[in-house]
Amino acid sequence: MLSVDSIQPLEDKIVSISRSAGSLTYPANFTLVASMDPCPRGFYSNPEKECTCSASMVTRYQKRISGPLLDRIDIQVEVPRIEFEKLSDDRAGEPSAVVRERVETARKLQRERFAGTSLHTNTDMGAGDIQKYCPVDAAGRGLLKTAMTQLHLSPRAYHRILKLARTIADLAGSETIEPPYLAEAIQYRPRRQV
Ligand SMILES: [Zn+2]
Repeated sequence: MLSVDSIQPLEDKIVSISRSAGSLTYPANFTLVASMDPCPRGFYSNPEKECTCSASMVTRYQKRISGPLLDRIDIQVEVPRIEFEKLSDDRAGEPSAVVRERVETARKLQRERFAGTSLHTNTDMGAGDIQKYCPVDAAGRGLLKTAMTQLHLSPRAYHRILKLARTIADLAGSETIEPPYLAEAIQYRPRRQV
């Protein structure tokens, strides 16, 4: 199991190593991308093959990822098994060049937003910056309040949702964080509660 110490780079984007001779701090700014099976045998939530794991096996397996680590993962997406028909479908999806263009436009918006500050992208925002750059209207606030209460979200999750919704709005080319962007950010929160 990953210990709380291994969370430091995710939170502070630095890693400190302490030895008897002293301690050293290194920059550690990275994007964590990880995947795991939903249960020990991998068939949990598979519509075609029954999962034969016991409930306690599934819980024990999923708990190998600690709550504090899970709380720092902004986007959790369940990837269902791909059916043969879809795999063999030769229709082309959205080309990478188009996606790239969208990402570059969102990045440009962020450069302009943070010009003259020490911030580069939305992820760099602290609580004060979030208040300044992520204004939410009354409908959005209502949505956040419901999510916080029903999903028992931590203050950290609240800030992370706002930053992610800011990015989703940027990708859509929207100046304001509309409720649908907040709703999308909320539904990416890890399912297992911390
Ligand atoms: Zn299973």
